[in-house]
Amino acid sequence: MNKRLPRSLLVVLLAAALGAFFALDLGRWLSLEQLRAAQAGLEVAYRDRPLQVIGAFFAVYVAVTALSLPGAVPLTLAGGALFGLGLGTLVVSFASTAGATLAMLVSRHLLRETVQSRFGARLAEVDRGIARDGAFYLFTLRLVPVLPFFAINLLMGLTAMRVWTYAWVSQLGMLAGTLVYVNAGTQLAQLTSLQGIVSPQLLGAFALLGVLPLAGRWLVSALKARRALAPWRHLRPRRFDRNLVVIGAGAAGLVTSYIAAAVKARVTLVEGHRMGGDCLNTGCVPSKALIRAATLAQEIREAHLYGVHATAGGADPGRGLTSPVCASAAPARVTVDFPAVMARVAQVVRDIEPHDSPERYRGLGVDVQLGQARVVDPWHVQISHADGQTTTLSTRAIVIATGARPVVPPLPGLQEAGVLTSDTLWGLQELPRQLLVLGGGPIGCELAQAFARLGSQVTLVEMGPRLLPKEDDDAATHARQCLEADGVRVLTGHRALRCEPRQDAAPVPSAPDVGETPAKAPAGTAVSDDPWSLVTEHDGLEHHIPFDRILCAVGRQARLEGFGLEALGIATSGRTLPVDEHLQTVFPHILACGDVAGPYQFTHAAAHQAWYAAVNGLFGSFRRFKVDQRVIPWCTFMDPEIARVGLNEQDAQAQGVPYEVTRFDLGELDRVIVEGVGDQTSSGSGGGGGSGQRSERDAASRAGWVKVLTPPGKDRILGVTIVGRHAGELIAEWVMAMKHGLGLNKVLGTIHIYPTLAESAKYTAGAWKRAHQPLALLRWVERFHAWRRG
Ligand SMILES: Cc1cc2nc3c(=O)[nH]c(=O)nc-3n(C[C@H](O)[C@H](O)[C@H](O)COP(=O)(O)OP(=O)(O)OC[C@H]3O[C@@H](n4cnc5c(N)ncnc54)[C@H](O)[C@@H]3O)c2cc1C
Repeated sequence: MNKRLPRSLLVVLLAAALGAFFALDLGRWLSLEQLRAAQAGLEVAYRDRPLQVIGAFFAVYVAVTALSLPGAVPLTLAGGALFGLGLGTLVVSFASTAGATLAMLVSRHLLRETVQSRFGARLAEVDRGIARDGAFYLFTLRLVPVLPFFAINLLMGLTAMRVWTYAWVSQLGMLAGTLVYVNAGTQLAQLTSLQGIVSPQLLGAFALLGVLPLAGRWLVSALKARRALAPWRHLRPRRFDRNLVVIGAGAAGLVTSYIAAAVKARVTLVEGHRMGGDCLNTGCVPSKALIRAATLAQEIREAHLYGVHATAGGADPGRGLTSPVCASAAPARVTVDFPAVMARVAQVVRDIEPHDSPERYRGLGVDVQLGQARVVDPWHVQISHADGQTTTLSTRAIVIATGARPVVPPLPGLQEAGVLTSDTLWGLQELPRQLLVLGGGPIGCELAQAFARLGSQVTLVEMGPRLLPKEDDDAATHARQCLEADGVRVLTGHRALRCEPRQDAAPVPSAPDVGETPAKAPAGTAVSDDPWSLVTEHDGLEHHIPFDRILCAVGRQARLEGFGLEALGIATSGRTLPVDEHLQTVFPHILACGDVAGPYQFTHAAAHQAWYAAVNGLFGSFRRFKVDQRVIPWCTFMDPEIARVGLNEQDAQAQGVPYEVTRFDLGELDRVIVEGVGDQTSSGSGGGGGSGQRSERDAASRAGWVKVLTPPGKDRILGVTIVGRHAGELIAEWVMAMKHGLGLNKVLGTIHIYPTLAESAKYTAGAWKRAHQPLALLRWVERFHAWRRG
């Protein structure tokens, strides 16, 4: 199918062909009676000019099937009558395959885009299923006559099945039917009707043949599980101590065990380190507490913009904070007592600890055991307690919720330089003077900004061409500008090679040999005594970036090793544990959820998966649920926050989903003007250097924006990105709308309190509505009003 063939032309051609077929009553030539009447003449023609007759037959067959016209069965019989069983089957088989493939392509060309724009997310789900099992389904459909052949062609055209797969599976699936009909055709003279050709017994046999692949697939996975379990089968106990053992008490494990206890299962939760996992102890909670302190420091610097002046309080370590931000007033000098900041961070963790404590979970009915878990065989988990005691529990099911740890690349010198990670950062007692953050993802950006605002001189080094690679370019660019305004030196396209101790004590220029980012070393800041430098490769040259502390934030790797998975034969080499859509491993009763399973490494994603892990672990032998990960939101907690749900532009383009964009600049919102968010972000921090750059930016965009993707002309929400203060809170309304299929009209019809940031949802929906006004109708209404005025 020529992709560039205009759709309108194809529609005209199709309509003309179908019109001619029915107007000229060509169908009468494809009846059994006509075939029998023409048989003798056709046989003579075939004897005289066999190739031409085969060619003509092939062409007619392809045309009839490609246009989904009735007549394929009589034609197949004719194939048998004319060419005999062998050649007839060959010709019909290839002709029907070619016709079916063409019909499928016509359907794809005419309809897929429309269907995709209406049902994009659901179609994507179907496409994933087709990619996985499409060949099996098609084969079954070809054999089991639940759908007419033309309907199969039309439906499959709506999916993303590969043309070649479609063709060969169709040919294979249609072969049995073709043989039967061609064979019947060899006895054309004796046939009185089309009805008796396929007996109920034969139909039954076809159906059996059709479900065979699916049954086979089910059997294969059952056998796989059986084979995986075979070496262990003798260890399967007759009775079990527990219904479920959950390994790891982070978000995933806590929620899994909570759900299991709620449905009265006997469940043990094992934690080897600290209850609450990474989120509470080294992730979300401490990082947000640190960000809170950093935001406060920034707000104090900007207080003068509101006419509020903090009492001068000494030097601002490392930063100077002398940037001109307002013609009439000077920013306050901020003193950061870093140990006190870290003490508060630790206190916040302690304050939240009771939510995840063993006592709380025991109260909920969970048997909490503190110790290192080890899977000794598929039904036994051994727990090694701190006092040297061990307990072994037999269990019907196991959920692995062991989370992930920071990846530290094997860079020469990195360990010697005392690399920090999100695991070790929280023990810092001294504010790094010159902090190098390796990695421009969400964690790197959040922490780079926080440390810059607390007073470190921060350089952010990213290997890719830009920060936040999962977000749209505009959001990533905005993030970069905000970081730079806070004094962070952002270096993208820099591949880290090694860390080296600095030999020289000579002063280092504030922006050494890296020209792409304006460095903002505050006046008077000496950087000469930074003991280390990171050597990067950029544009074919080596660059030396000095630091006294280096923080590695280049990604997180599932915790898979060292607790028995290797011995079970579960793959432990990947970034995450391989699980299917039910979160089952190769052993159906051993499941995984949270960071260890991925693909989303967020606390709320872990908690969401946990429900599936618990239910499938406990009840999977009767009914399993596929994990639904269609509407998973997330937020990068920089200032401004960047929150997202569903598709953004780069995803939509990559997936070929047609979309239109509605954008609302938050700077237009009354509440934003009241709060002065735009002013604040435009002021830059005390780090200096950023304000000039900011002032060049579109004033309305400074406060951020809401960007909604919808299918062209439709109000269905494909995805939303919000860049702005409290974006993580604002996204909730959009998550709700997407989850429950509410479109922009419904958002517009919802009352929002004035003046709030939440009104941004209504205004965005209003912007969409304005862009889709019924202009023709409004012209008539205008005339009506003019007429009423007389
Ligand atoms: C700096 C940082 C900031 C973050 N900010 C956010 C945020 O703002 N929002 C958000 O949604 N997500 C955030 N995340 C991600 C979030 O922390 C994780 O997605 C979440 O913790 C995953 O939970 P989990 O239960 O899968 O794993 P974890 O929380 O890692 O829990 C796994 C637990 O298993 C235990 N364990 C491992 N092996 C064994 C064993 N053999 N025996 C017994 N116990 C074992 C570990 O000790 C650990 O406690 C952040 C992460 C980091 C690093």
